[in-house]
Amino acid sequence: MQIETQKVVTLNYTLTDNEGTVIDQSNDGSFAYLHGASNIIPGLENALTGKAAGDTLSVSVEPADGYGERDDSKTQSVPRDMFPEDAPIEEGMQFHAQGPNGETIVVTVTGVADDSVTVDGNHPLAGVALNFAVEIVEVRDASPEELEHGHVHGPDGHHHD
Ligand code: ZN
Repeated sequence: MQIETQKVVTLNYTLTDNEGTVIDQSNDGSFAYLHGASNIIPGLENALTGKAAGDTLSVSVEPADGYGERDDSKTQSVPRDMFPEDAPIEEGMQFHAQGPNGETIVVTVTGVADDSVTVDGNHPLAGVALNFAVEIVEVRDASPEELEHGHVHGPDGHHHD
């Protein structure tokens, strides 16, 4: 069975940056996604189309087909008192914030001064070229419920809150 829209794909992968640093990996057959539903970044999804269980491939994804280019205008300095007074604020901490269109975004603290905090609203992998080593474990038809929800359900089904 080949990978195409409306198939559920289970795969193992190792994701590295161009320096060879491992950013993320899943090698126990626990990662599955619904093909054609934008569950994964477009550069990887496109490369998997037409592949089958047992195939292995290496995929290099430029930022534009991954998490986007870095946008320096998403970095801003905000007053320290916007954060809880008793909470230590340190570089690398991440917070949920409201984006310009009301969506939830994750911002990362990139600098701390006495009365201001610099936060970066770029995705942590924005501007990063991504290299995937992929092994396709299984390809199956999606269930009607999975198609309706636009995502994969586990072997025991899954429950929404
Ligand atoms: Zn669901």
